[in-house]
Amino acid sequence: MPGHILVLGGTTEARQLAAELTGPGGGAATTRVTTSLAGRVARPRMPAGAVRIGGFGGPGGLADWLRTHGVDTVVDATHPFAATISAHAAEAAKATGTPLFALRRPGWTAGPGDRWHPVDDLAHAAERLPALGRRIFLTTGRLGLAVFATAPGADALHFLVRSVEPPEPPLPRHADVLLDRGPYTVEGETALLRDHAVDVLVTKDSGGPATAAKLTAARNLGLPVVVVRRPPPPDGVPLVQDVASVLRLLRGKGRFSRGAADTCP
Ligand code: NAP
Repeated sequence: MPGHILVLGGTTEARQLAAELTGPGGGAATTRVTTSLAGRVARPRMPAGAVRIGGFGGPGGLADWLRTHGVDTVVDATHPFAATISAHAAEAAKATGTPLFALRRPGWTAGPGDRWHPVDDLAHAAERLPALGRRIFLTTGRLGLAVFATAPGADALHFLVRSVEPPEPPLPRHADVLLDRGPYTVEGETALLRDHAVDVLVTKDSGGPATAAKLTAARNLGLPVVVVRRPPPPDGVPLVQDVASVLRLLRGKGRFSRGAADTCP
């Protein structure tokens, strides 16, 4: 087991990993675990072990932090759409010779009855909407919503925007904001879609169970879902899909894939 593990966090899996590593049998006697949070959420769910909060000041700042704090392994357990910090981690790990791997929960896959429209980014999602419906449930987070305000036809649409923290303006002209944080249930999501007469759902392919209920609810109601694909992970960073695989790797018993998104021990 490495002596000091830095977990780049902000996800359920990062919290689970910190809990495992600092719990009984986790190696706490010989291993220090520090989780890093970006500091975007006012009251974050705090992981076990040491926590630092705030940006590092780019890849150079992260490299300095790794050296100064004697980090000998980095686990990038950030959200699949947090592409900047993942790229910085790859650069800093290379510069310092620190082993790095990324924990990425699997993406969602469409099943029978799903009406999914995959797109590459939020701008393409915004372009699709006028052809799909009028009342949009937007669940892509608090940032980057300007494209939904400025896309052709946007003013004719009504948006229900759900995010953990207040969304950053500009918002679409017709928008209601719902501040909430998962996990969600199929019953709750179905009621929400019905109550707001939603006819299109927009989501990132975040994966994981905590926010998947909206997909089931949309399927049951026959609604189209615009699904934003994940950005590619940094080249050459080994990927694993779950906390158990990370633990096996840290204990020297696991294998991982190099740069391929969906393979794990
Ligand atoms: P991002 O665009 O990839 O990163 C922007 C900057 O934020 C980075 O350059 C870094 O600043 C700082 N940063 C991001 N994650 C950090 C971390 N774990 N510790 C320290 N600094 C961090 O990130 P983002 O998409 O805004 O996500 C921010 C945080 O929210 C991440 O921890 C992520 O796991 C979590 N999150 C993101 C999403 C999403 O949809 N993007 C969803 C749920 C949770 P410096 O360059 O100054 O180091």
